[in-house]
Order: sequence, then structure tokens, then C-alpha cells
Amino acid sequence: IGDWANVPAAPLDPILGMSQRFQADTDPRKVNVSIGAYRTDEGKPLVLNCVKKAEKIILDNTTLNKEYLPQRGDVTYAALCQKMLFGEDSQLLKDGLVATAQTLSGTGALRLGAEFVKRYAPGTAVYISSPTWGTHNSIMDQAGVPYKPYQYWDKENRNLNLAGMLDDLKAAPDGSIIMLHAAAHNPTGVDPTKDQWDQIMEVCKAKGHVCWFDSAYQGFATGCLEKDAYALRKFAENGLPLFVSQSFAKNFGLYGERVGTFSLTCGSSDTVKSVMSQMDIIIRNLYSNPPKHGANIVKTVLSDPELYQEWRDELLAMSVRIQDMRKVLFDELIRLETPGSWKHVTDQIGMFSFTGLTPEQSKAMVEKHHIYMLGNGRVSMAGVTSGNVKYIAAAIDDVVR
Ligand code: PLP
Repeated sequence: IGDWANVPAAPLDPILGMSQRFQADTDPRKVNVSIGAYRTDEGKPLVLNCVKKAEKIILDNTTLNKEYLPQRGDVTYAALCQKMLFGEDSQLLKDGLVATAQTLSGTGALRLGAEFVKRYAPGTAVYISSPTWGTHNSIMDQAGVPYKPYQYWDKENRNLNLAGMLDDLKAAPDGSIIMLHAAAHNPTGVDPTKDQWDQIMEVCKAKGHVCWFDSAYQGFATGCLEKDAYALRKFAENGLPLFVSQSFAKNFGLYGERVGTFSLTCGSSDTVKSVMSQMDIIIRNLYSNPPKHGANIVKTVLSDPELYQEWRDELLAMSVRIQDMRKVLFDELIRLETPGSWKHVTDQIGMFSFTGLTPEQSKAMVEKHHIYMLGNGRVSMAGVTSGNVKYIAAAIDDVVR
């Protein structure tokens, strides 16, 4: 002890590590499509206009200060977030049956949920889609919560493997916890249809599973907040017990501000009070209380009708730009007569394209073409621009031949 020579060097994070490699690359052609962060068509990070306006309002508001928030965060913010998830007319909200804490973005929400499971459902496994955003698994691992995969991806048809998914949900012990991507599944870009969601719901209901909606892309799948909350709201209306982790990183562009929530539905409003009192203790011992600035931005936008509309328009514009890039990439691959079928590039939704490139092909994209993407074939379409799309298509064409 003392010189810490016993500490081995850790491998780079599979997603953040790619961005570090990108930064270190001096090739002028380099492209970063590894991280799920929106870029303008000029390849620049975007601060939304509604966010800038909200920040100005916050700066001018002389009643605000830098005092601590309570452990659970800002309760007005939490109530606005609940409405965004469950809907204005939600009976659960009217009955006061949802416990919500402000969190350090989506990752902090997932970790808080894991801490809750460890204490109040010890030994219960969380079932996670295969594939998924890799951090889902590692958060459970680091929190000491058992986790298992369920089938999700039909590799051959590049689509949802509904039968496999339903089989695995049926085979899980009654009362398991099922992690579901609320909208814009990461990394596949394939969401269940309404009918498929209904089938998933019936199985989960019959099995008494708790469904954990991870909502990191509300508004990015269809461009519409309500449509992207379809499954969550339907499950809530049908009385399934729910967890929800919510992130404002992508849909507000507040990546580094760390703004999110963790919610769970409870059987009574008294239980909500007990659950929140325990959340306060868990949070107190993790990081004491959450930061204020990002939550103030979201609160300001969600409670001002004009800013709210402006945000919705900006969110739509971001998702439309991504859809446009899907089309351009697809057209270019067709023009190049790139071997294989590429229809999935335009069929998939959300921020990512699960290209179907093999680990070797993905590696060649990075090492030969300086296009930083994930080893599982995931390309962030949010980083594709008019300026780099032809280069990306040419590189794909090269590595698949
Ligand atoms: N959940 C999913 C599926 C994600 O893809 C992400 C981010 O990429 C998150 C949660 C959480 O991100 P953050 O902690 O930045 O809100």
C-alpha cells in the first residue's frame, strides 16, 4: 500500500475511449461517429437557442442563488419531468403514485435505480437487451446487481427478434426487472412497433415483471415527444410497475450539464413518501445533492410555453437532419454499388445506425480510414454531415469489398 503499484492500467472505455483516440489522430480526414452526440451540418456541437434563452433568464433572475438543492433535487423540475414522461393526463400522476428524484443525467439515474434494486429487491436480476448500450451491463455489474441478457436483435434480417425476446421474458423468473429502451434503441435503431410493444406488455404483465424504461432519446426516434413515450405511457395506463431513467443529454443537448431523473411507480402515495425518504439517504451518501444549473434550464424551458415550443421545433430539426443524412448515406452506397443490402440505414431510427459491419470491418474503418466508430458496427448518424458523408460511404464501400 502507498505506491499503488498494485493498480493495473484499465483498458479505454469502448465509447469514450474512441473519442480520445479521435482527438489524438492528426489525419485531416478523421471523422468521429463513435459518440452519441449531435453535431450541426458543419460538424460542430450545438447549444440550442431555447437553452441560451433560458440561461439568460436564469442569469437575470435575482431570486436564484447557489445554495444546495435537497438530496432528491428540485421538486418543481421533477414534477415537470414526470409530465413529460407520463403525459399531462396521467392518472398515476393525478393519484400521486410516482416517486421521482433529480439525477446526474441518465447514467446517474441508472445507478440510482441499481442502488434501489440492491437494497429493496436484493437478488432480483435485471434483464438487459442484447445488444445494448454497454454501460447498462457495467452499471449493474459495478453496483453488484445481477443482470442477464434477453434476445433483441435478429442479425440476419437486421430487425427485432420478437419471438426470442418474448421467450426470454417468459423464461425469466416472475417479478424480474426488464430494462427496455423507451425509444430509439441504442445501438440497433430498431424499436418494437405498437403491436409488438403490446405483446411485450402482455408477457411482462402476466409475469409480474417490473419494466424499467430507459429514456435517453425522447423526441429523437420520431421527432415527437408524445409518440416517443408511447410504450411507457401504455404500460403505465395498464398498471405495470415501472422504473424510468430519463436523460436530457441528447434531446436538450445538455450532455455535460448532467440533467436527468429516476422515477418509480408505487402502490400508494404513502409509499411514494417512504421511497423518496430512502432515495434521499442513498443520494446523500453518493454525491449529497445534484447540481442546479442544468435542471434550472430544463425547468425554465418546460414551464414557458414559448420556449417549450421553440425547444420542440429545435428537437424536430435535429432529428430531421439525422434522417436526411441516413438518406444521403444510403443513396451514396447505392451509387457506389456497395455489396450488400443497405435499406436498414434508412429504416433504422434515432441517433445510431447499426451498420452490420463486422468487428474487422469496423476496425478497418478506424485504422485505415480514420473514421472512429464502435467495434460492434455502430455509427452515430448524429456525427454524419454533408461534408463527410461521401467519405464515410466510400470507406464503407472499401472495407466491405
Ligand atoms: N441510456 C442510453 C441507452 C444511452 O445511450 C445513454 C447515453 O448514451 C444514456 C442512457 C445516458 O447518458 P447520460 O448519462 O449522458 O445522460
